[in-house]
Amino acid sequence: MNYDIRGFVEVSFLDWAGEVCSILFLPHCNFRCPYCHNKDLVLTPDTVPRIPEADVFPRLRKQKKWIKGVVVTGGEPTLNPRLPELLEALHRYGLKVKLDSNGSRPEILRDLIRLKLVDYMVMDVKAPLEKDKMDAVTGIDAPLEAMEESIRLIMESGLEHQFRTTFCPKFLTFEDLMSIGESIRGANVWTLQNFHNERTLDPSLADVEPIEADELESFGPKLEHFVKKIQIIA
Ligand code: SF4
Repeated sequence: MNYDIRGFVEVSFLDWAGEVCSILFLPHCNFRCPYCHNKDLVLTPDTVPRIPEADVFPRLRKQKKWIKGVVVTGGEPTLNPRLPELLEALHRYGLKVKLDSNGSRPEILRDLIRLKLVDYMVMDVKAPLEKDKMDAVTGIDAPLEAMEESIRLIMESGLEHQFRTTFCPKFLTFEDLMSIGESIRGANVWTLQNFHNERTLDPSLADVEPIEADELESFGPKLEHFVKKIQIIA
């Protein structure tokens, strides 16, 4: 079976709430976020070599006793027509799945949740749910209604979940964060991460400085009432 895996990190301590996990990267994305760090997977996926399943699954099986699960990310994984089969295969191996998505395809998320193929759902809420702001951060004509629908689905799913926002001062203000907080009020976890200006999809962002770590951290207490837990990655 060809699941079109283009990246495999066997061991990560950073991507599943401090627990050990593995990561699979799938190619292609329907967004063009200027600050994206996976530009090869997004812009030129065919230049990224495919990793044979025979190099991935036996290694996952060997370490399944001591990893929390597998993070499936991209790119945008819901564009992959074989995603349900990949997630089924991971579950057959006894592995839990954490799925990253940009929230643009709620119909796929709905099916994956209904079929119990996801254990932990992560969605980027990149900007307030306002057309001009979301278009600027995603670099496309953003599917705002679909993203709102995905937020609703995830919050009502009963699954462990997390929403994620990258704070790039070119696109967001503190008031925008208040607006995002309102749109995910009551969520389990909101991760607010600082922007990094190296190797971005839009090279002009190299001239944009991230805000100081102290300033980003100072947002935490002002936003924590929106969600059960806020984490700041400064
Ligand atoms: S959603 Fe944006 S940041 Fe994520 S992979 Fe696609 S272009 Fe990159």
